[in-house]
Amino acid sequence: MNPLAGGAIPSHEKEFAFLAGPRETATQAALRFVIGCPEISVALVGFTTRAQVDEACALADCAAVVTAAVRERLRSHLGGNLNEICTGCGYCDDCPVDIPIPAYMQFYNDKVMFGKSDDDMRKALGFHHDWGLLVGRKASAEACVTCGKCESACTQHLRISKWLETVAAWESGK
Ligand code: SF4
Ligand code: SF4
Repeated sequence: MNPLAGGAIPSHEKEFAFLAGPRETATQAALRFVIGCPEISVALVGFTTRAQVDEACALADCAAVVTAAVRERLRSHLGGNLNEICTGCGYCDDCPVDIPIPAYMQFYNDKVMFGKSDDDMRKALGFHHDWGLLVGRKASAEACVTCGKCESACTQHLRISKWLETVAAWESGK
């Protein structure tokens, strides 16, 4: 499940370029890896276009078994933070004070996985307040009452309220 990290890999091709071999994208490499792992019998891939289905099927037809050497090469690039990414599943989206949690969590991976600076995070939030994911929000991050409902629902066991605290500080210009 989630072989493309909930879309994080396709939307960060450059950052995940280390996954890829010659003449392939990071997305193709991630699919090839999952399909080529002998321990995995089914790859549950989310599709939005026919071309994506064709691409995954073509990879499934020719994916070689992933060797220990390949695993080691990939492991050396990965930090523990990859165990803590938001997959965008949306199961947390039932906040009693109407905070748009999945929208705020869209920024989480940028910080946790790619270490973006606080300044970059403030700019991204500012842009999305005016033009993007956070337009029309009914409540902002600072409204969190730490009830824990979202964290109980989170498939990745993420500390969402702690993240919102950080976001609230950025939103207030700190
Ligand atoms: S912990 Fe905060 S964000 Fe999560 S459901 Fe409760 S109020 Fe909403
Ligand atoms: S439930 Fe967890 S993993 Fe899913 S969107 Fe919410 S924060 Fe992300």
